[in-house]
Amino acid sequence: MTSSPNVSTYDEFQKLPILDRATLNQFSPVDRLCTPISAVDDIRSTSGTSGQMPLFYFRTTGYRHMARVLVQAGARRKIYLWGYQHVITHVENDRLEGLQTVICDPQQLPQHVPLVSAMKADTLAGTPSLLLLFGQLLDNIDDRLRIRFLELTGEPGRPQTMMALRQVFPLAKIYHHYAMGEMGLETGIRTPKCDRQDSGYFHLNPEGIFAEEHKGELLLTHLNTPTAFPLIRYKTGDRINWLRHDRCQCGHEGISFELSGRSNVDFVRIAGVELRYDEIAGLLTQFDDALEPYLAVEVSEHISDAKQQVTLILKIVAKGAATLGTEQLAEQICGVVSQNLKLSATTRLKDMIDARYFTSPKVKFLPELPVSTKAPGIRLVER
Ligand SMILES: [Zn+2]
Repeated sequence: MTSSPNVSTYDEFQKLPILDRATLNQFSPVDRLCTPISAVDDIRSTSGTSGQMPLFYFRTTGYRHMARVLVQAGARRKIYLWGYQHVITHVENDRLEGLQTVICDPQQLPQHVPLVSAMKADTLAGTPSLLLLFGQLLDNIDDRLRIRFLELTGEPGRPQTMMALRQVFPLAKIYHHYAMGEMGLETGIRTPKCDRQDSGYFHLNPEGIFAEEHKGELLLTHLNTPTAFPLIRYKTGDRINWLRHDRCQCGHEGISFELSGRSNVDFVRIAGVELRYDEIAGLLTQFDDALEPYLAVEVSEHISDAKQQVTLILKIVAKGAATLGTEQLAEQICGVVSQNLKLSATTRLKDMIDARYFTSPKVKFLPELPVSTKAPGIRLVER
């Protein structure tokens, strides 16, 4: 991109500009390379929560850390349920560590059921919601008991999902990892032995990355990592709180952190206000008993009475055992969201409805979990 400045002290490092997704997107992938293209052996795109999908080049494969931890614990054969191409890299990493891994398309879950006994899988990897769905498809109890390790990634495991997962796979030890395609490395990990098991808690992976906190957001820098485009002070979009533990029960010493959600990428600016998805998710927690932890927010705009009007359509999955009729539930949810959703420090959705910039929100119940997404509760966003 530009010639690199000389940095020899931490103070100088901290003066380097922060790199965000928007800046990355101004440069074509090839322009970002700092090695010849022939030295690149892996190209990945990320899921693109900011609306664009930047490509990242790597010189050698990453993601070895999680594989090593699993193999040390005794894992040997893994089924990876994931829809994105970049996990192909995991197969190579897993193999190098002694783990035999097969990637399965989450869109075809029922077809993969026989594979569990056929390959004598002892490990399943994927998002908590997908693993739960898959587990529920395993009618044969032996298949479920075969699974000794669950590797969770892609979304935080909500308490209800985790409880259900433990019931479905009673012998499985649960490992959480937090990684980003663009880093090519695990950023954080939590093992079954860790002191804390709450969903956002991770130990910082000490290998290959330097982490900073800037205004509550996690910034990462590659250190000696074999990437063809090292990221420096990269704004991850994840909000964190640092926690410093002297020593965890699992043996980890050093820094741990808590992910508290996504930063400002999860909003839509519309009709002069900001619609934050985490605000909506927060309001829906009071319906946890009746709802599955998934939400798609669709924002539709139309012109009415020469005024642009915006409608929020909340797409939700009701739990089978929900006691209320869905119509009544929809009404209650609409009421809570209209009255309480904040669109700015001083504006609530109610004010915008009164001013006829927004209509009342609509609730649409979906029949099943959105398996085609790695939604961490509130990620399925359509416009
Ligand atoms: Zn630990």
